[in-house]
Amino acid sequence: MAIDNLTVKYGYVWDALNEEQRKEVMTMGEDYKAFMDASKTERTCTNELVKRAEAAGFVNIDNVTELKAGDKVYSVARGKNVTMAVIGSEEVAKGVSIVGSHIDSPRLDLKANPLYEAEGMALLKTHYYGGVRKYQWVARPLALYGIVIKADGTSVEIAIGDDENDPVFYISDLLPHLAADQNKKTLAEGIGGEDLNAMIGSLPMGDEKAEIRFKKNVLTLLNEKYGMVEEDFVSAELELVPAGKARDIGLDRGSIAAYGHDDRVCAYTSMQALFEVADQPLKKTAIALFVDKEEVGSNGNTGMHSRYFANLLGTMIELQKGSCSGFDIDRCMAKSALLSSDVAAASDPNWPGVAEARNTAYLGKGVTIVKYTGSRGKGGCNDANAEFVGEVRKCLNDAGVTWQTSELGKVDQGGGGTIAFILANADMDVVDIGVPVLSMHAPFEVISKADLYSTAQAYRAFYLR
Ligand code: MN
Ligand code: MN
Repeated sequence: MAIDNLTVKYGYVWDALNEEQRKEVMTMGEDYKAFMDASKTERTCTNELVKRAEAAGFVNIDNVTELKAGDKVYSVARGKNVTMAVIGSEEVAKGVSIVGSHIDSPRLDLKANPLYEAEGMALLKTHYYGGVRKYQWVARPLALYGIVIKADGTSVEIAIGDDENDPVFYISDLLPHLAADQNKKTLAEGIGGEDLNAMIGSLPMGDEKAEIRFKKNVLTLLNEKYGMVEEDFVSAELELVPAGKARDIGLDRGSIAAYGHDDRVCAYTSMQALFEVADQPLKKTAIALFVDKEEVGSNGNTGMHSRYFANLLGTMIELQKGSCSGFDIDRCMAKSALLSSDVAAASDPNWPGVAEARNTAYLGKGVTIVKYTGSRGKGGCNDANAEFVGEVRKCLNDAGVTWQTSELGKVDQGGGGTIAFILANADMDVVDIGVPVLSMHAPFEVISKADLYSTAQAYRAFYLR
């Protein structure tokens, strides 16, 4: 063997692409930004995924009476989970190929009794969702999204702040002139959870003798526009997210900043990969799975721990065989393979101390295979089998995908996890593989367009293997 072939080289995606592919990278970047602008929450992302699936010829599995090779179906659960499947020539019961991402992102949820007034302002109490660095969410424009179930059972959807004619919402921070005490606190303590109160109004109604005039003015406006009363906040899911569109970064437009790359970038790339293989003959049924609640531990009926996905596999088996037992589902899981498609930490030249240079992901070096996550001594991780990592690695190499491999920072620096362990616990082969991200969980995160492209290539190769 030539001596040069003994060493591993992880290069830049861009260098491995021809002129046509480089154009494809830029085209995909434009489409991805449009996807992200329509996908500011798990619910709006669900709507966008369904819209695109239907445009690509997928039909709702609830309207299907049989499943045969080549069929394209999707399923939606509770407005926050989506599954898309392209049926293979082999029975679903013999195992499927899944790429699984999550479509929830860190944000500020409204509390059940959010609205109050103080000092000439109407404000909203929030409760942060997921791993939020609180100091990043103040003094910036925020948009309000969600759904309200009203007293009569009807629902109304709210989306305020991303149309340029909309108002936005705002959480104030201290001026530096008076921040002497705050400045002595740690970064984690400088802004407290109960300090994240967002301004929703500042005009009083009625005469000076009336009470809670600022709050009543907001309630009047909400009632006029949405037919809401204050009690309706109890049966609502309302989220404050960063206002604004995804934007290119840099003069060469090589990267994209957006809210919620974690993990909608892996949702987008798995959707694209599935659409690209949807009209090719597949042996294994190819599935793109999009789940909610990953950022808070994957619990609940829309998280990966839910029986939703197992029940859906059962429905698919039943549509093919006429019946399905619990063991049929378990055996299908055990014969399936999952790429847990979640973002990875990209090495950051502003913060070189937290990564270990030989085992970190770099922006632009492609989709990254993360054999294990976890913290401390790999605590809580899914440590993927060498055999399955080998299969994925061969699959990427055979397809000419530029990839890299990484773990989440230096040993004992911190840690994290994904949905990987949940389906691995169901006896499935699982490995984490996804897009490197700068400023993960910040209101505005950054990815490389080349990595977006490489990741879609990788997922496509996995479906076709
Ligand atoms: Mn994630
Ligand atoms: Mn995350």
